[in-house]
Amino acid sequence: MRIIVAGGDGFCGWPTALYLSKQGHDVTIVDNLVRRKYDEELRSNSVTPIASLEERVAKWKEVSGKEIKTFIGDLNHYDFLSEVFRQTEPEAFVHFAEQRSAPYSMIDREHAVYTQTNNVMGNLNVLYAIKEYAPECHLIKLGTMGEYGTPNIDIEEGYIEIEHKGRKDTLPYPKQPGSFYHLSKVHDSHNIMFACKIWGIRATDLNQGIVYGLHTAETKLDPMLVNRVDYDGVFGTALNRFINQAAIGHDITVYGSGGQTRAFLNIEDTVRCVEIAAENPADKGEFRVFNQFTEWFSVQDLAERVQKIAKEEGFDTEVKKIENPRIENENHYYNAVNTKLRDLGLEPHLLTDDVIRDILRTAVEHKDRIIQENVLPSITWK
Ligand code: NAD
Repeated sequence: MRIIVAGGDGFCGWPTALYLSKQGHDVTIVDNLVRRKYDEELRSNSVTPIASLEERVAKWKEVSGKEIKTFIGDLNHYDFLSEVFRQTEPEAFVHFAEQRSAPYSMIDREHAVYTQTNNVMGNLNVLYAIKEYAPECHLIKLGTMGEYGTPNIDIEEGYIEIEHKGRKDTLPYPKQPGSFYHLSKVHDSHNIMFACKIWGIRATDLNQGIVYGLHTAETKLDPMLVNRVDYDGVFGTALNRFINQAAIGHDITVYGSGGQTRAFLNIEDTVRCVEIAAENPADKGEFRVFNQFTEWFSVQDLAERVQKIAKEEGFDTEVKKIENPRIENENHYYNAVNTKLRDLGLEPHLLTDDVIRDILRTAVEHKDRIIQENVLPSITWK
């Protein structure tokens, strides 16, 4: 299958591009490399030293014999995007290429406007490009479980049956996102659903949980193929961030009470979920939603698990509660459905102690790269 992986230089996109290429697909990466620029802006870095995209794909060709084509450019430049579609004639478009940090979107007005412009307009351009150049192309769009927020009822997969005043309908599940970033994903979902309805586009919205880990079988093949790992207070996500804090002997910092419960998955499952979606495309005009996660945990539980493994590995670290920089429920109900990907064959890689240990050892290996002053939150929602 001819597959475009937009955002293929990023944390989820790079291992996905390699995995799909290994499976025999004809993969093209589109990326404007802006994630590397956010690092410069924030004076931060990936814990692992990452090669340039050019070096990465050259190394991949050397070790696998397979070519990944690259286009460096912005989804918001429609002429560029049109040319990419004309040249590649994609059958699937995997869309990772968005600004994905909630704290980054909450820095100030400029960053909120940038996030929503980059994400919502970029996605709208992709929808138009599919309509204009590749109407059969399946859009596989990365959304987030954060679109749903934390309602006091079970979270369904995209839709909920409602009975109101004696009548019934199946409607999009209500969205209560918690940042301008998460709102951009909700706006994307609405635009995609509408485009499916009016133009007959086929789309799958993957409402992904928080991704942890870094290695996949492919990224392990050579140091130049290593994935990026974010640990700072802006781009570092829970679990990966906790593990990196432990690696430098820092306290593991939990925001507020730590009762916040979130859905998680291993990066090895991210790549497989995308493959499953690609192999089982949505019907024409269908807006399909999958909840892409395997387990859920409270952040306090995760912090304690990291602390336990860190102790076993000889790192004495404390779990410390700090003032929550976000505005969010700290104690709430959480029960989310995730059966659709399982029904299509996903075999989850669950969070075992060995998985935590493996990420910790990688963080320890590169701990000299961790910039200590970046590990605490610097952005508040207020
Ligand atoms: P990332 O920032 O590491 O990667 C995103 C990539 O997209 C970067 O390489 C960036 O340069 C590129 N990009 C951004 N805007 C672009 C544009 N306008 N044009 C071209 N390229 C652009 O992020 P990630 O962690 O790999 O996340 C990928 C996707 O998955 C995002 O959409 C994110 O919202 C979603 N997601 C991620 C997580 C997670 O835990 N990492 C969880 C849920 C959902």
